[in-house]
Amino acid sequence: MLDDETMRIALGGVSLTVLVLFYLGVYRPTRSSFSGWWSVSLLCAGSSTSLLLFNGTGLQVLANPGSTALSAIGVTCVWFATRSLRRGRALPLWLLAVAPAVILVPTLLQNPAENVWAGNGLLFSYMGMMFVVAATEVWLAWRARASRSAYELNGEAVVALLVSAIASSALGAFYVLRAVLYYAVGPEDGLFELIAGTAPTTGILLVCLVAVTFSVSAVGWDQQTQALRRRAMEDDLTGLLGRTEFRLRAEHALSAAARSGVSAYLAVADLDHFKVVNDVHGHAAGDRALVEFAQTVRDTIRPDEIAGRLGGEEFGLVLIGEDAQGAAARLDAMSEAFAARSSSFDFDLPTVSYGLAGLEHGSMPTDVYERADLALYRAKDAGRNQVVAYRGEADE
Ligand code: GH3
Ligand code: MG
Ligand code: MG
Repeated sequence: MLDDETMRIALGGVSLTVLVLFYLGVYRPTRSSFSGWWSVSLLCAGSSTSLLLFNGTGLQVLANPGSTALSAIGVTCVWFATRSLRRGRALPLWLLAVAPAVILVPTLLQNPAENVWAGNGLLFSYMGMMFVVAATEVWLAWRARASRSAYELNGEAVVALLVSAIASSALGAFYVLRAVLYYAVGPEDGLFELIAGTAPTTGILLVCLVAVTFSVSAVGWDQQTQALRRRAMEDDLTGLLGRTEFRLRAEHALSAAARSGVSAYLAVADLDHFKVVNDVHGHAAGDRALVEFAQTVRDTIRPDEIAGRLGGEEFGLVLIGEDAQGAAARLDAMSEAFAARSSSFDFDLPTVSYGLAGLEHGSMPTDVYERADLALYRAKDAGRNQVVAYRGEADE
């Protein structure tokens, strides 16, 4: 069996080499947050292992707590990396300092100059916990990614997430076991040495590190592709689909509904006298009103329905499964919900007019836009703040 020192030199060397390759090959070109955090954690892992080489020397008193702190920061970065896989608020940076600060207390109290295991019980428990949390994040990201529509699916990224999920789960289980053995039998016991000592730990870390780095490069690229795709698909201000993407998906959804005999309607919504909001309260207030309306739309539509911003203060929705009356009733309710949101503004939010058209007149999905627009004009003409459905030939 290789001795601990050789294993540590191997792990330190591999993690630093992988770091350089990964940083230059993935982080620099993609700048994806996942690969950034992964680079930092590789740096921490490599440095932490290297510091342990000073065990048994006069520098152990500094190197040992340093290694412990770096391990804690590194594993927290793994969590930060996996957390960035799902959209949502980024974690605050100060979180990085909490674990090392807490773990350093027992480390310094347990004579790190002579005791190479000082503070390690707490460190192993924390690492186990963080790897389990990270594994959960990756499994969730994997599930979300694997269930995307075929058109957005990137097989390589799904496999990469699966590999990362398995590796982080294995590390989580291993560190939990390591912590349990540490407290149950102590780090000097033969059983601990055999299952969770330096040699098996370094071996497992080596395998997981290489497996995860290999697959996270695919995830890093995928994250950048997703970001670019989102930018191309989504409207910047409201986060709803942009005009082109909305029209594409709406046509697809309307045709699919028509084929399967489910009723589906296209609604075009236009905020009333919106120019006045801008003129009286300023453009920024106008923007906030648009964002608020987009949120109301998001709260209204169901998971299989589609919404987008067609431009300016005009929005599109595809409502599925109701007749014209039912669809109109949902739009009325949406207007009410939007009006109720005025309470967080210092002015009344504008009312909304809607034009509604379905495929029931034997039309093509592309005609539906014109028909919904015609109906919208009638809603405006009739005094705004209402839903008007296209009536067939009478409206042409
Ligand atoms: P109507 O009831 O007939 O629809 O009247 P309106 O004032 O809503 O319609 P009009 O087309 O005259 O004005 C639309 C306004 O929407 C004008 C434009 O400055 C504003 N607008 C378009 N895009 C944005 C945007 O992104 N932010 C803000 N704040 N205003 C926008
Ligand atoms: Mg308008
Ligand atoms: Mg308009």
